Amino acid sequence: MTLLNTKIYDFVVIGAGIIGLSVAKELTEQFPRAKIALLEKEKTIGLHASGRNSGVLHSGIYYPQDSLKAAVCSEGAKRMRCFAGEHNISCITTGKVIIATCENDLPSLERLLKNAADNKIRAERLNEDDIKRIEPYASVFQQGIYTPDTASIDSKKVLDVLLHINLSRGVELYLEHEVVAINEQSKRMTTSRNHFNYGYLYNCAGAGTDKIAKMVNLAKDYILLPFKGIYYKLKNERKYLVKSHIYPAPNLNLPFLGVHFTRSIDGSVYVGPTAIPAFGRENYGMIKGMSTEVFSITKYIALLYWANQQNFRALIHSEIKKYAKPYFMRAAKQLIHTVEASDLQTSNKVGIRPQLVNTVKKKLEMDYIIEQNATSMHVLNAISPAFTSAFCFAEWLIGRMKK
Ligand SMILES: Cc1cc2nc3c(=O)[nH]c(=O)nc-3n(C[C@H](O)[C@H](O)[C@H](O)COP(=O)(O)OP(=O)(O)OC[C@H]3O[C@@H](n4cnc5c(N)ncnc54)[C@H](O)[C@@H]3O)c2cc1C
Repeated sequence: MTLLNTKIYDFVVIGAGIIGLSVAKELTEQFPRAKIALLEKEKTIGLHASGRNSGVLHSGIYYPQDSLKAAVCSEGAKRMRCFAGEHNISCITTGKVIIATCENDLPSLERLLKNAADNKIRAERLNEDDIKRIEPYASVFQQGIYTPDTASIDSKKVLDVLLHINLSRGVELYLEHEVVAINEQSKRMTTSRNHFNYGYLYNCAGAGTDKIAKMVNLAKDYILLPFKGIYYKLKNERKYLVKSHIYPAPNLNLPFLGVHFTRSIDGSVYVGPTAIPAFGRENYGMIKGMSTEVFSITKYIALLYWANQQNFRALIHSEIKKYAKPYFMRAAKQLIHTVEASDLQTSNKVGIRPQLVNTVKKKLEMDYIIEQNATSMHVLNAISPAFTSAFCFAEWLIGRMKK
C-alpha cells in the first residue's frame, strides 16, 4: 500500500474515547495555538469502552486516599455534571446504595466509609430500614451506604459534544487511522493511512494502549487483558424494583465492582456487568471479535490463576459461570431476592474492560498507571471510573507532561 504524505502536529492524541477526547480538549485550553491531531482506528467514535459502559458518574468512594483514582474521580464527576448542564446532556443525580448482603460484606463497607471520610465524599451509613426507604426491594444484610452524588449520564452524548468542541477549536480528527508503528527518535508514527510527526504524543488508545507503549519500549512489565461485561435488562413491568442504583459491597482487592442494578438515563434498568475473561480485546460476541491473541490471553490468565494473588482463582470460578444465566441470577438475587430469571431479558449491551496486568508481580493493577518518556505519555489502565474522572484526569495528565 502506498502511504500518503507526512502530517506535522504539536500534539498527537491516539484514541477518540473519553480519555483521548478529554485530553485533546484540555490541550486546546492550555495550548490554544497548538496544532493537534486526534487519531482513531474506527470509522466513528465511541465504539469501545466509552460507548459501552454503565453510564454512572461515580462518587469516588471505592478508592483509597493515596490513589490517583481518588485524586481525580469525585472532582471529575462534579465537572462532568456541570458540563452536562452547560451542554444540555441528560444527567440525573440519583444517588446510589451499596449494600451488605451477608456478614462478610461488613468490613468492606467500613473501608468504603473510611475512603469517603478521607476523600471528603458525601456518604451515609444506613440501616436496613433506611435503605428500604430509598430502595424498597433491595435485600440488605444489616447495613448499607448511600452516596447522594452518584449520577446517571448519557455517555454517548458526552462523547459527541466533546468531539464537536474539539473540532470547533481546530483539532483535526483522523478516523480509520490505526497507529501501527512509532519511531521515537524521529518522533514519527505510521498509521494505516499516513505518517504523522509529533512534538508530543498522548497514547489514550484504551484496549490498545499497551501495544502502542511497547512501540516506544515502555510498558515492559505490563499487558492488558480483556474482561467481558455482559448485561441483562430488567423487563419493563419489573423496573419498579430499582429506583436508581443498587451495588453490592465490593471485594476491594479487585478492580471490579460486582454485578449491580443500574437505572440508565432513558429509564431502562440494566443488571451487570460480569467480568469474564474474553478471547480478544474486542470479543463482544461469543465468537465475534475472538483474536489470535487468545493463546497469549490464556497464558496470562493461567499465570494469574497459579499466582492466585487478589484471590484471582475465586474470581475466575465465579465469573466464568456467569455465562450461564442461573449463575448470573445468583449474583442478581443477592441484591434483590424477589427478582426472577424471567425478569431479566438478554440485552445487546456488552462492554470489555481492558485490565492491566503486572506480569512481574503477577497481579491486576488497581489504579490508573501512566508511563512516559521525554516525548510521549501512555495511559495504561484507564478502567472504571475513567469515564467519571476524565476531565480531571486529562488536566492531571497535561500537568504531568508540563512538569
Ligand atoms: C462494561 C463497562 C462498564 C463501565 N462502567 C463505567 C461507569 O459506570 N462509570 C465510569 O466512570 N466508567 C465505567 N467504565 C469504564 C469506562 O467506560 C472506561 O474506563 C473509559 O471509557 C475508558 O476510556 P478510554 O478513552 O481509555 O477507552 P476507549 O473508550 O476504549 O477509547 C479508546 C479508543 O482508542 C482507539 N484505538 C485503539 N487502538 C488504536 C490504535 N492503534 N490507533 C488508533 N486508535 C486506537 C479505539 O478504537 C477506541 O475508540 C466501564 C467500562 C466497561 C467496559
